[in-house]
Amino acid sequence: MKCPYCEAENKSRVIDTTRDSQGGIRRRRECKKCGRRFSTYERVLRSTPLLIKSNGDREAFDREKLIRGIQISCAKRPIQAAEIKALVDRIETHLQQLGRDEVSSRVVGDMVIEGLKTLDPIAYIRYAIVYLGLDSLTSVRDIIDGLLGEQGGTGTGKGAAAPPAGPQSPGNVAEGAGAHP
Ligand SMILES: [Zn+2]
Repeated sequence: MKCPYCEAENKSRVIDTTRDSQGGIRRRRECKKCGRRFSTYERVLRSTPLLIKSNGDREAFDREKLIRGIQISCAKRPIQAAEIKALVDRIETHLQQLGRDEVSSRVVGDMVIEGLKTLDPIAYIRYAIVYLGLDSLTSVRDIIDGLLGEQGGTGTGKGAAAPPAGPQSPGNVAEGAGAHP
């Protein structure tokens, strides 16, 4: 640590340490050479991996964009903004905990879809239609049957609310999910 006044390197002693609400650590220091005081602030920099889209492009995780995409699926549904934000927080934290530079954007789409499944079935179906690229009534019915099966309802009992097929355009989930509600 360099003194900002006399530029002496590593000549400061810590006279006080405090921790702030964000978990950062603030150290009040005194330069042993010039005697002046300054503070340093240390905090964890969490980095979120880049998302690899299906076309191979890399894209930064964009929480606002993700929130907008999810909001469109949740339009007119009894879902609180806070619930959407909590879901996106979970996704962001999960990405950071992976500790990788890059991950498939499917990680995000899969977590959104799992999250919506527990939040609201209609929002889940809307998102699934876009995210999984469902393009027939049969495939949509499979999703619905899967949900009903899980709820112990009148579904076909497949118990497969899980996606019937892999996402067709996982890379586009961030922007694509909101494109057509
Ligand atoms: Zn100094």
